[in-house]
Amino acid sequence: MTTSIDPVRGLYCNRTLNLRRIEAIGYDMDYTLIHYHMRAWEERAYAFIKEGLQQEGWPVENLTFDPDLAIRGLIIDCEAGNIVKANRFGYVKRAFHGTQPLSFEAQRETYQRTLIDLREDRWIFLNTLFAISEACMYMQLVELLDDGHLGSSIGYGDLYERVRRTLDQAHMEGRLKEEIIAQPDRFVDLDEDMPLALLDQKEAGKKLLLITNSEWSYAAPMLQYAFDAFLPGDMTWRQLFDIAIVGARKPSFFSGQSPAFRVVSEDGMLREQPGLLHEGEVYVGGNAALVERTLGLSGEEILYVGDHLFVDVNVSKNVLRWRTALIVRELEDEIATLAAFTERQHTLSALMEEKETLEAEFSALRLRLQRIRAQYGPHSNGDPETLEQQMRDLRERLVGLDAEIAPIARESGRMMNPNWGVLMRTGKEKSHFARQVERYADIYTGRVSNFLHHTPFVYLRSHRGSLPHDDVVDREFAPDAIEPLR
Ligand code: IMP
Ligand code: MG
Repeated sequence: MTTSIDPVRGLYCNRTLNLRRIEAIGYDMDYTLIHYHMRAWEERAYAFIKEGLQQEGWPVENLTFDPDLAIRGLIIDCEAGNIVKANRFGYVKRAFHGTQPLSFEAQRETYQRTLIDLREDRWIFLNTLFAISEACMYMQLVELLDDGHLGSSIGYGDLYERVRRTLDQAHMEGRLKEEIIAQPDRFVDLDEDMPLALLDQKEAGKKLLLITNSEWSYAAPMLQYAFDAFLPGDMTWRQLFDIAIVGARKPSFFSGQSPAFRVVSEDGMLREQPGLLHEGEVYVGGNAALVERTLGLSGEEILYVGDHLFVDVNVSKNVLRWRTALIVRELEDEIATLAAFTERQHTLSALMEEKETLEAEFSALRLRLQRIRAQYGPHSNGDPETLEQQMRDLRERLVGLDAEIAPIARESGRMMNPNWGVLMRTGKEKSHFARQVERYADIYTGRVSNFLHHTPFVYLRSHRGSLPHDDVVDREFAPDAIEPLR
C-alpha cells in the first residue's frame, strides 16, 4: 500500500494484481457500490421476519433486534442451535447457544472433535451484513424453543429454515425495498467519491459492468440516488456502465447458461436478447460466459468487486478465474480500533513473552525433578526439595502474570463487538472469515472509493506473508545481529 494513504482506506493485496492489465471491472451493487446503514436496514429486515413469524402464530412479540448479537463471518450450527466463531482451521473458538455464551466446558464438550466444513448443511456462514437480522432472530428463537414456547415437534434445524424463508420473503416481496426506496437517506451511507473512482476507471479505458442480484425496480432508483448527482453534467449511472445486469441470480450467473433479457422501458419491460449483449444496455439475467463473449475478454482480464464472500468472490474465482476484490466495510473500524489498541497490545505481547519464558523454566525444572526421582539421564543429581521450592515460586509468578494478562486479553476480545471481537481474528489467530478472504479475494478493501486514491494504474503487490519461524529469523539473523565475518 502507498504510504501516504490513510491505512483505513487502503487496498490490501493477497495476490499481486496489476490494475493496468485489467480490461473490465464488474461491480456488485448492494453493500458494494451502495453501502447501507446496517443497523437501520437490518432493524427493518428483522421487523419483517418478526411480522412473518407472528402471522404464523409464533410468540415473538417481545423480541427486539440486537445488532451486537452477531457479526459477519460467524457460523450458525443448525444442529446444536449455536452460533460460533472459528479460526482459520475451522476449530470453534467461541460459541453461543441462543443468546448466551457457552461455558468453556460446554464448548469443549460440543466441539472438541469438530472441524467446521462449510460444505456441510449443518453450518451456515454469515456471508454478508444482510445476515445479521437472520442470525439475531435465530439465536432468540433457539431460546424460545429451549424454554418450551415453540412446541416439541420442531428442531434447531427447522427453526433456521423458518427464519431463512421468512427473511427471503421479506427481501423478495418488495415492501422492505419500498421503504428503502422511499427514504434512501435513512438507509444508504452515500459515498460521493465512489462515482469519480469509477469514472476514472472508465476514462482509463476499462469496461465497467454492473452485476447485481437486485431487481430492476430496486436497482434503478438506488443507483440513481447513489450516482447521478455526483457524475458530471447530465451523465447518469446508465452511461457509466458499459453493460448493466440486474436480477443476475449469482452465484449461478457465474456458471450457468441463463438467457438475458433486455430492459426496454423504464418500468422494466423485458425483451429476450438473442446472441451477444449490447453495450450501453441494461439486462436481466444472462450469464458470465455471455459477458465474456460480448467483451471478448476472459479470466484474468476481468476484476469482479463484491461484498459476498461466497457468491461474489469464491464462485467467480473458482468457476471463471476472474480476479476478485472483496469489500469489507468493517475493515475501516477494525484497523482504527486495532491501531488505538497498539500500546495495550505491546503490553499484552510482552506479558505473554514473559509467561512463555517462565513456563519454559518451569518445564525444565519439572523434567529435572523427574530424572532425579527416577534416576536416569544427565543432571539426575540435585536436591528435589530445592527444585520443588523453585517450582512453587515460578508458579506463583505465573499466577500473578495471568492476573495481569486476563483483563487485557478480555479487552482485546471485545474490540469491535462485545460478544465476538474483531472480524479478521480470533485471539491471535486468523479467523475463518480471514482465511477465506485470503484464499478467494485477490485484494480487499473497506469501500469502492478507495480505488480513487490508488488510481486505475496501481500495481498491487502481495506482501511477503509470515510464517511461524519468521520472528526468530528476523530477531536472530537480522543484519545487526549477525557478527561480521573476519
Ligand atoms: P447484490 O449484492 O447487489 O448482488 O444484491 C443482493 C440482493 O440480494 C439484494 O437485492 C438483497 O435484497 C438480496 N438479498 C440479500 N439477502 C437475501 C436473502 O436472504 N434472501 C433473498 N434476497 C436477499
Ligand atoms: Mg452485495
